[in-house]
Amino acid sequence: MAEKKEIIIQFGGAVGNENFTSNDITIVGSESQKNRIKQVMEDHFYKGEIKVMEQGDGVIVNVHKTPDGGNYSPKTKNKPIPVIQLDPECRDDTIIHEFVHHIRNVDKKREGITRTPLPLDKDGKINYSKELEKYVGDIKNAEEAETVTETTARIGSQPRKGLVTGYYLKIKGINFINAYEHDRKLLTGDPIMKKNLRGKKVTDSVTNNYDKTMISRAIIYPNETEGRTAIESREKLKEVGIIEQDKKE
Ligand SMILES: [Zn+2]
Repeated sequence: MAEKKEIIIQFGGAVGNENFTSNDITIVGSESQKNRIKQVMEDHFYKGEIKVMEQGDGVIVNVHKTPDGGNYSPKTKNKPIPVIQLDPECRDDTIIHEFVHHIRNVDKKREGITRTPLPLDKDGKINYSKELEKYVGDIKNAEEAETVTETTARIGSQPRKGLVTGYYLKIKGINFINAYEHDRKLLTGDPIMKKNLRGKKVTDSVTNNYDKTMISRAIIYPNETEGRTAIESREKLKEVGIIEQDKKE
């Protein structure tokens, strides 16, 4: 692959190393890409949250041409470090979105709707099973909508234009901008992009409001989920025992 200059940086903590070591966020990209990602992170996550994301095996962020702006791959038995891919032209909310996937996967203190529905083993690797294969669509459906919810509550500084994530197009019967503004107001009380939430405020807001969001009604993978909405997908995963029933309520 024709790479530009490769710069390895990390946020806080551990001492750098030529190799991809654990306990860091390693960004592979140009200096300006590195600075931009770092700035977006600092504007939308608390230091303590960034620390949580660096823990253990950390995460590798590759900046290169990427369809849909970005993606996140949790670690598996064969791939010991999670990877985020970001397009150089991606929007700020894509950067936040992919890191929200990551924190949902690695922050063991999270529970319920703020934690990934992916079944993970002790080391945080995906616990594959026949049952899981059958419900991959529901996992993705729930994980994406829940990640979008947290991202919508976190984002605060970006101009409105072009802001709405594509997943809002997957909600039937409502204009996607209206749906986004509804959720933004519900989650933060402020639709005009001034207030953003972080830390406990964001996880509390997602926990308390998710079932009232428009995005929880999105049907992101209709063929793989028999047309279930995101919130129905999480229920299905509980029903078949892939995730635990909620302790409260
Ligand atoms: Zn996503």
